[in-house]
Amino acid sequence: MYKIALDGPSGSGKSVMAKAVAKKLNILYVDTGALYRAIGLFMYRNGVDVADKAAVVANLKNVDVKLSQSEEGQVVYLNGENVNRDIRLPEISMYASGVSSIPEVRAFLLELQRDAAKTNNVIMDGRDIGTVIFPDAEVKIFLFARDEVRAKRRYLELKEKGIDTTLEEVLNDMQRRDENDRTRAIAPAVPAEDAVMLDSSELNIDQTIDAIINIIEKRIK
Ligand code: C5P
Repeated sequence: MYKIALDGPSGSGKSVMAKAVAKKLNILYVDTGALYRAIGLFMYRNGVDVADKAAVVANLKNVDVKLSQSEEGQVVYLNGENVNRDIRLPEISMYASGVSSIPEVRAFLLELQRDAAKTNNVIMDGRDIGTVIFPDAEVKIFLFARDEVRAKRRYLELKEKGIDTTLEEVLNDMQRRDENDRTRAIAPAVPAEDAVMLDSSELNIDQTIDAIINIIEKRIK
């Protein structure tokens, strides 16, 4: 059984790449950001201010997050409801980032992530997979790209979904969230010491997938 940790900032293309690589290698793909988004969504819906850590922690007892796999990939359930769509709303991103800096929230999601790798080879995308969740992962990759490149990709993706925004707004939100994720005291979104750094600024999707497969093949088998 092996684990591939794919970490990196928002908009670096982790989920697209991880999904494609999982398909090619016929292994499980787990998107861990979706778990933090589910908790963020719960707080959003219930009017909990995520800057109020005590309130978030007190509300955790009402939260049940589960993961399952379907034909279309991962499904996240929040208290029994499929929330795959709602967790992608742009306003949920900051809520996810807010709750993710709270140690109790990270502890709450830890076993769920580790359990997913018990019975499957897995590629897991997130921020702390190579540093905290699987420090012993066989492969660790840190995927990144220049801010402007990431913002443009995210902007086009949102536009395609019919979400009304501007490039500037996307860039600002992204930089604010990255700063939050990078500077938090617990599990900051930084590369593991032994991660392979992969800059996708000048690569298209297929080239990035190939680069990732190359890194994996050098370490597994
Ligand atoms: O990857 P995604 O953008 O969906 O993640 C949403 C938020 O969840 C991130 O901004 C980050 O704050 C948090 N996150 C995290 N650790 C992970 C995955 C996501 O803190 N492993």
